[in-house]
Amino acid sequence: MPPVNLIGLLPSELEALARDLGTPAYRGRQLATWLYRKGVLDREAMTDLPKEFRERLTEVATLALPAVERVIASQDGSRKLILRLHDGGRIHAVLMPDEDRQTLCLSTQVGCGFACAFCHTGTMGLERNLTADEIVAQLLIANAELPEGLRVTHLVFMGMGEPLANYASTVKAIRIFTDTRHGFGYSPRRITVSTVGLVTGIEKLAREDLGVNLAISLHATTDAIRERLMPVNRSWKLEALLAAVRKFPLPTRRRVFFEYVMLDQVNSSLEDAHRLARLLRGVRAKVNLIPFNDWEGSEFRRPPLSTILAFQSVLLNAGITTTVRWSKGEDIGAACGQLSEVAEVRAAAGGSR
Ligand code: SAH
Repeated sequence: MPPVNLIGLLPSELEALARDLGTPAYRGRQLATWLYRKGVLDREAMTDLPKEFRERLTEVATLALPAVERVIASQDGSRKLILRLHDGGRIHAVLMPDEDRQTLCLSTQVGCGFACAFCHTGTMGLERNLTADEIVAQLLIANAELPEGLRVTHLVFMGMGEPLANYASTVKAIRIFTDTRHGFGYSPRRITVSTVGLVTGIEKLAREDLGVNLAISLHATTDAIRERLMPVNRSWKLEALLAAVRKFPLPTRRRVFFEYVMLDQVNSSLEDAHRLARLLRGVRAKVNLIPFNDWEGSEFRRPPLSTILAFQSVLLNAGITTTVRWSKGEDIGAACGQLSEVAEVRAAAGGSR
């Protein structure tokens, strides 16, 4: 067993660790404050902790972050952080600034096992789950990358991997992010978990009482089309998926997000738009249309702008809030579904910092 990494521990676990080491619990809270509030990882700098406690910590636990292998800046201001894990695995985290927001797109797995036909990450297959500390580390690294005084304001689990297939680590990381006393203190409203639609995972998440936003990667309006695009639809049909979504507890004025990648001649007709409006009847929904981000070897194309706008109009006319999400970081292979090794090589040829 490798020694425990401090940054994957809940503040309550850091308290317990302090007690185990013969120190009062509040020392663990102080430690959590250094790590998660101040982003300080250097034990030497934690001057209010007794030297002896700091030394004991070094003996029993590590405090390691993945290495930042490269940072690739996009013309639109987003930055892709390529991180190398201790075992050589690679993941990406993408920082997307937008007005006064700094959104960080987090990965939860190395690769992904769900093989959605339009997704480049899906071609990699699943290598492994990330541990909670590897998820938390992405935020610490991103914060350190931002200019003085700026912090990540919003977190979206939309990077590599399927968060609900790495359930325990995802939920633990969220608890560290949202712990208001000694964790990062993010409001759960600023956190969004996006899923291919794992119904059991959605049901489980509903019982956690985390209060985070849920995004469903829907992408089709019939089981036949969805099955072709997303093999996961063989396990849970649209009806089962939407039933789970309807039961998901939503705080007042909040909505479930539906991601819908626009693929020319596949799922973007007016008929699809009307069917989508019908499917979402009675669901407090917000739809994000994502024009397909092309990658080499893909069999799909982005529809013409007029098709995308016509699709959006149908939904708007049905009273459904619908935005078109022009992906960030397209030029650096950091856009939705482009997070894979090959995309990275191509992007690297473009420009790095
Ligand atoms: N596994 C989770 C998290 C990934 S989120 C999920 O599926 O929700 C990434 C989002 O980008 C998903 O909605 C995904 O379907 C979408 N996406 C994947 N490849 C894409 C592509 N090439 N163009 C546009 N969107 C894509």
